[in-house]
Order: sequence, then structure tokens, then C-alpha cells
Amino acid sequence: MRLTIVGCSGSYPGPESPASCYLLEADDGARTWRVLVDFGNGSLGALHQHVDPLSIDAVLVSHLHADHCLDLCGYYVLRKYHPTGAQPRIPVWGPPGTAERMARAYDLPLDPGMTAEFDFREWAGPVQIGPFTVTPVPVAHPVPAFGLRVSAGGLTVGYTGDTGPCAAVDEVARDVDLFLAEASFVTTVDNPPDLHLTGVDVGAAATRAGARRVVLTHVPPWHDPEVSLAEARTAYDGPLSLARAGATYDL
Ligand SMILES: [Zn+2]
Ligand SMILES: [Zn+2]
Repeated sequence: MRLTIVGCSGSYPGPESPASCYLLEADDGARTWRVLVDFGNGSLGALHQHVDPLSIDAVLVSHLHADHCLDLCGYYVLRKYHPTGAQPRIPVWGPPGTAERMARAYDLPLDPGMTAEFDFREWAGPVQIGPFTVTPVPVAHPVPAFGLRVSAGGLTVGYTGDTGPCAAVDEVARDVDLFLAEASFVTTVDNPPDLHLTGVDVGAAATRAGARRVVLTHVPPWHDPEVSLAEARTAYDGPLSLARAGATYDL
């Protein structure tokens, strides 16, 4: 399984990265399957640097905040109006209301919205996409939000999406080969609850859960990511790095 960081800027696109978008690729022996985990603003353009954007098999949306889903708008145009013809419908997994949310985002009539281009499905339990098994884990955020465990070929990536500290973070991180974890907050006395993690939160969860590698992501442009990295290091001894747009991890 290969992970490419298409975008990792927290909350909005930053000077060096689009918002959240991660490409996972795995072979099933016949071909390479590709899924996008989140599709935040600015990421569709960057995706072109890595793969043919028409080669995506499914999109997995953690939650419906703008920085995690809005580039489905451009992707709808690309698939609908591509000069080679309208592209096959692909599944888009997300929280309840994803189809309506995306129709409103593009200012489309709710019916049909984007349903001719995307087969919208709501997270309810594990799903299979080619060689990938994806398990959604509800997390703590102001809107319905899911961490995702994505497995293929005996390897697992755990992605927090956006979440405050909660037991589900440990569940997402349990024994994973790579823990892709948001670190939006730095440690202060007044971080609001049920919103985001600090580097310390991530490191502590990774240690408790036995994550074999940690990549910090979703650091907003107003924070120094090195601070988040240093915070995580105080609570986690294993391989630890900051997500950077364009980086790839071969698991
Ligand atoms: Zn976010
Ligand atoms: Zn969010």
C-alpha cells in the first residue's frame, strides 16, 4: 500500500499545501486501485501531479467541513464534462447528508445534485473497495465525523479525520502501520473540547494503541508545525514525521 499526501494543511489551504487529501494505492494482483481519503479545497489541482485524476476508484470523506470535501465540486465537473466523455459513476462514502451537502456546495438542485456522477453512500460499517477494507470509527467533532482505518495486503493506515481527544482516537490508531493524525491544536489551557487534537494527544494515543509510525497532519497555517512535532515527540518514541504535500510513504 502506498500513501501520498496530496494536501495536509489544516482548516484551509496554506501557502505550501492544499487542505486535507490523501491518496492510497494498492494492487489486487490485476491492477492498482486508488482511493482518496478526504478531498479538501485546493487538492484536486495537486492530485494531477500524482495520478490521472480519472483513475480514482472511490472517495472516502471523513466529514463535511469545507477543508475535507469541497474539491468534490471540481471533481464533479471533471468527471461530468471530460472531453473523453462522462466518466463512470464512482462511490463517495461519507457521513449522512453528503449528497445534499455537495449539491448545495455547487449550487445544484438537490435532485439530482451530483448523483449521476457519484454513488453517494453513508458510513455505517466496514466497506470493501477492491483490495481495501475501510472501517469508519465515529469521532468527536461538532459535526458527524469519522476516523478511518484503511487496510490492504495486511497493512493498515489509521486516519483520525478531525476529532477532539476521545477513546475512538485510540481505536483508529490500534496496531496500525501508519497513524495519520491531525494535530491542529497546540497545548494551551483553553482548547475547546471535542474539536481537535494536540501533538501530545496524538503521541499519547499512538503510544497507548501501539501505532508503528506516526505522521502528523492538518496543522493550520497559523501554527509552526515544528511545535506540533515537538509536542508529539514528548509522548511517542517511534518513527514520527510531519505530513508534507507531495510526500509518499510505501508501506
Ligand atoms: Zn479540518
Ligand atoms: Zn472539521
